[in-house]
Amino acid sequence: MEQNGVSGTISVQNVCSKKPTYAKKLRRAKEDYMNAKLDTTKCISCGVCASIAPDLFTVETGIVSFKKDSKTWVADDWTKAKEAAAACPAEVIEITE
Ligand code: SF4
Repeated sequence: MEQNGVSGTISVQNVCSKKPTYAKKLRRAKEDYMNAKLDTTKCISCGVCASIAPDLFTVETGIVSFKKDSKTWVADDWTKAKEAAAACPAEVIEITE
């Protein structure tokens, strides 16, 4: 292929290989803006959140708490956290984007 005196080929694979990296960065950037909060004063310690997302929530002390810092949560964690928030009977889990 020759165009304007330049010859060569364009590797489609090189262009496409950047898509997952961009998508990953975009997803990570979105997760950076997400925030999770618990209102422990209104929690009834039912354990629903811990049963839905055992890696994220615990009620072992009788008061709900996060098992790990929400800043380290990945996409699957946020999905589970949203599920737990929707199922929480006391509506004390707040997930903001
Ligand atoms: S589901 Fe809600 S009320 Fe039940 S333990 Fe979790 S935060 Fe508390």
